[in-house]
Amino acid sequence: MSQLSEENLRWQATAREVAEDVVRPLARQYDEAQEYPWEIKAAITDAGLLGVWIPEAYGGTGLHETNLRNVAVVVEQLSRACGGVGVLFAVNVLGSMPILVGGTEEQKQTYLPQIASGEKLISFCLSEKTAGSDAPALKTRAVANNSGWSIHGEKKWTTNGGAADLYTVFAVTNPEDNRSSRISAFIVEKGDEGFSIGKVEDKMGIRCTPVVETRFSGVQVDQSRLLGGETGRGFRHAMATLDFARPGVAAQGAGLAQGALEIANRYTSQRGQFGQTINQFQMVRAMLADMAMKTEASRQLVYAAAGAGDAGDLKGLNQLAAMAKCYASDAAMEVSTDAVQLFGGYGFMKDYPVEKYMRDAKITQI
Ligand SMILES: Cc1cc2nc3c(=O)[nH]c(=O)nc-3n(C[C@H](O)[C@H](O)[C@H](O)COP(=O)(O)OP(=O)(O)OC[C@H]3O[C@@H](n4cnc5c(N)ncnc54)[C@H](O)[C@@H]3O)c2cc1C
Repeated sequence: MSQLSEENLRWQATAREVAEDVVRPLARQYDEAQEYPWEIKAAITDAGLLGVWIPEAYGGTGLHETNLRNVAVVVEQLSRACGGVGVLFAVNVLGSMPILVGGTEEQKQTYLPQIASGEKLISFCLSEKTAGSDAPALKTRAVANNSGWSIHGEKKWTTNGGAADLYTVFAVTNPEDNRSSRISAFIVEKGDEGFSIGKVEDKMGIRCTPVVETRFSGVQVDQSRLLGGETGRGFRHAMATLDFARPGVAAQGAGLAQGALEIANRYTSQRGQFGQTINQFQMVRAMLADMAMKTEASRQLVYAAAGAGDAGDLKGLNQLAAMAKCYASDAAMEVSTDAVQLFGGYGFMKDYPVEKYMRDAKITQI
């Protein structure tokens, strides 16, 4: 029985069309150029995909409070054609989720419709040079003053940075409190004085999506930009956001695995050695079967995790999302590496798109 609703299936079909008609033909060009693909973003916007996780009450098309299965099917289809485009889409879910889970009603009404319509893109700024896995060790500081808050610090690896108009920024507001209660989240806009983009990373994979350092040199924001209107809740918002966003990363993995599997199936049915196509060899068939098994298992785990979120089962989401992210990202790496293997020497070259799946898959594990 399908884990997907009619609504999910409609968005899956729409995303598949955009992926095949627009994304796949341009994937190589933007991978080589390492540039943000604005024409792909326009196609994603025109198809209405940027509103699928945002409830109707806030300008989106989502029928529920959270719409993680919509996210999963869209990310999966986009990633099947290009891992970078899957990230380019999914990072808006990551950036806007703190507003959905922790924003005031006014913040939701102000920002979510702009994101749902594609008018504004958003980034998520948690990691710092010395605070990666240990996110609560972050040092970016927000100090209260007469006009609100002044933010100082630097963030590392801000996906979508430069392209995005909005930035959810985690900063220390209460240094004397415990590690997690020290932190609050703010919404920074790209035109805010003191905000700038630093180093633009040169990446192994997902090259069409920018990943940059973001700098906050006394960025002044008023109280309305403090997420949820209260200090000390930022870390909880970040952790809840990561639970809601993990099925999306897992869906990247499932989509990449599916894309790599499809081109491996096609290639092995055409490549001849020893007087027959290589997919006639039993060991090749066993590899393809294992790849298909891992891909389908990933997909089902992604849908189960997203379904738990959509049903409001937060405990189930917490566990299943972690399992889905871990399993599907490992599967994407294994399946794409096996796909390269099945292409033999051609797999190591750029003649075929298969090596790109392997490069794009690596980030899902990190
Ligand atoms: C392409 C890309 C895009 C990103 N986008 C964003 C973004 O948009 N926003 C954002 O905030 N961040 C982003 N990140 C940052 C990402 O979340 C971090 O890279 C990640 O959290 C890991 O942190 P780190 O790189 O500092 O590695 P570290 O934390 O230094 O980890 C290094 C190694 O040590 C291991 N390790 C760490 N702690 C433990 C432990 N307790 N037990 C065992 N092993 C451990 C890790 O598993 C890893 O293998 C991005 C990163 C990349 C590469």
